[in-house]
Amino acid sequence: MGDWKKNLRVVEPYVPGEQPKQENMIKLNTNENPYPPAPGVEKVLKSMETGDFRLYPKPDARELVDALAEEYKVPANQVFVGVGSDDVLGMAFLTCFNSEKPVLFPDITYSFYPVWADLFKIPYNRPALDENFCIKKEDYFVENGGIVIANPNAPTSIAMPLADIEEIVAKNPDSVVIVDEAYVDFGGKSALPLVDKYENLLVVQTFSKSRSMAGMRIGFAIGNKELIDAMYAVRNSYNSYTMNMPSILCGVEAVKDRVYFDKTRNAIMETRADVAKKLEALGFTVLPSSANFLFAAHESVPAEELFMMLREKHIYVRYFKSPRINNYLRITIGTPEQMEIFLAEVEKYLASK
Ligand code: PMP
Repeated sequence: MGDWKKNLRVVEPYVPGEQPKQENMIKLNTNENPYPPAPGVEKVLKSMETGDFRLYPKPDARELVDALAEEYKVPANQVFVGVGSDDVLGMAFLTCFNSEKPVLFPDITYSFYPVWADLFKIPYNRPALDENFCIKKEDYFVENGGIVIANPNAPTSIAMPLADIEEIVAKNPDSVVIVDEAYVDFGGKSALPLVDKYENLLVVQTFSKSRSMAGMRIGFAIGNKELIDAMYAVRNSYNSYTMNMPSILCGVEAVKDRVYFDKTRNAIMETRADVAKKLEALGFTVLPSSANFLFAAHESVPAEELFMMLREKHIYVRYFKSPRINNYLRITIGTPEQMEIFLAEVEKYLASK
């Protein structure tokens, strides 16, 4: 037997929330949107000619890039698109973090960041959130090889004031600061208006949450032209056709329909306020959410117990068995009807204790 195994890259992969195959389940565990995508998406999908699939898609995903440039009022050469924001973030790590100095991101944040850093052999430090689960901006005023901030943060749901983000970007002219805005459309303040002012800022967003298209896998980044050029150079050195034809064309329809976008994200924000109030009345501490999910801990019943109880009833929420957050549940906001069923089960269980 040879020793080929010593040459393998050994990584601890990211583990996404489970995707159970069950009918009539209530799925509140991966921050998907309970509403369908904008109506134009179905129309364009149905009108597609499958004969066109013989051909490669446009490598620059022109239509989608142009639609995003128009919607966010930036030149098209400042827009990078990828296969969900995971792809965009991975490419951004690979492109922007090539220093010997550590990259910085919080101890509690999106658990994919340390996975990419390990995969790409990027050193990193993880400053702790404060006792209220807020990011301490001062922790990012030290020498570093780059910074990643999820705003709003996950799984805490808490947004950081834009002025604090700006201060972090302004104090780090020698590093790229990635602001991951996966949840920004549910009440956060986007850093996009700062992109013209700071060359070292990269804002990343996704179609998976506020545009109800997790299954289509579309994400994008907006930054200054040189930064975006560098990302495309890296992407094109790895795989030049990441965006498939249906997602390019469906993505355009989702971006164009601002009315539907506002209607669905407002519905989620309203449901969120209602559910937070009801959970508090049941004895939960609920962190102030600017995302499409709540992060909540009960005063007496452990989160893991509630998680298991709900799972038996085919109601799926997310539980993280990690230090500091192992008594919290992350609950995605579904439709009002789904949330009523969820709340009724929780209430019934608490009453039985
Ligand atoms: N960033 C954060 C903070 C997330 O929670 C997620 C969702 N898992 C992503 C990025 C990636 O989402 P997607 O690849 O579906 O765009």
